Amino acid sequence: MDLKSLIRDVPDFPKPGILFRDLTTLLQNQAGLRYVIDQLVEKHANDGIHYVAGIESRGFIFGAPLAYRLGAGFIPLRKPGKLCAPVYAVEYELEYGRDRLEMHQDAIEPGRRVLIVDDLIATGGTAAAAAGLIQQAQAELHGFAFIVELTDLGGRQKLPDVPITTLVTY
Ligand code: IMP
Repeated sequence: MDLKSLIRDVPDFPKPGILFRDLTTLLQNQAGLRYVIDQLVEKHANDGIHYVAGIESRGFIFGAPLAYRLGAGFIPLRKPGKLCAPVYAVEYELEYGRDRLEMHQDAIEPGRRVLIVDDLIATGGTAAAAAGLIQQAQAELHGFAFIVELTDLGGRQKLPDVPITTLVTY
C-alpha cells in the first residue's frame, strides 16, 4: 500500500519552515488504518511482547490496537501531571526548552518485555526519553515501532541498540 499517498504534508506547521506529516488522513482511511496495524502485528507477533508502551498522544492511537492484537497490555507514557499514581519521569530537550514523559511506577514488572510505539520519529528525543522510563522500571526494552521515520534528523542514533520498525521513511 502507498502509505505516503495517505499522509498529508502540511507546510509551515506548527511554525514556518516545518513540513508537518499529518497522519490523521491515514487514520481516517479504513484500509490504511487496518494496513498499518496489520503490518506492525506481523513484524512483532513472535517477539513475546508483554507490554506495548505508547507515547502521548498519537502513540496511544496506534499502540492500543497493536497491544490488543499482540495479546499484550498497553501502557500510556504521558506528558507531565496527567498520571494519578507515583511515576517515573525522564526530561528531554526540545528545540526550544524541555519536556518530560512520565509512566506509572507500577505499570511494568521488572524483566517484562516492552515495545515502545509512536506515530513518528524525528530527532529521537521523545523516543529516547520513553526508553529511559522502561529502563527505570528495570524492564526489557525489546524495540521501537513507528509509522513514520524522518531520516534526515538522525533520530535512531539517539536510541539504544534494539530493533526499530518503521513503515514509511522521508
Ligand atoms: P522527536 O522527539 O523530535 O523525535 O519528535 C517526535 C515526536 O514529535 C512524536 O511524538 C511525534 O508525534 C511528534 N512529531 C514531530 N514531527 C512530527 C510530524 O511531522 N508529524 C507528526 N508528528 C510529529
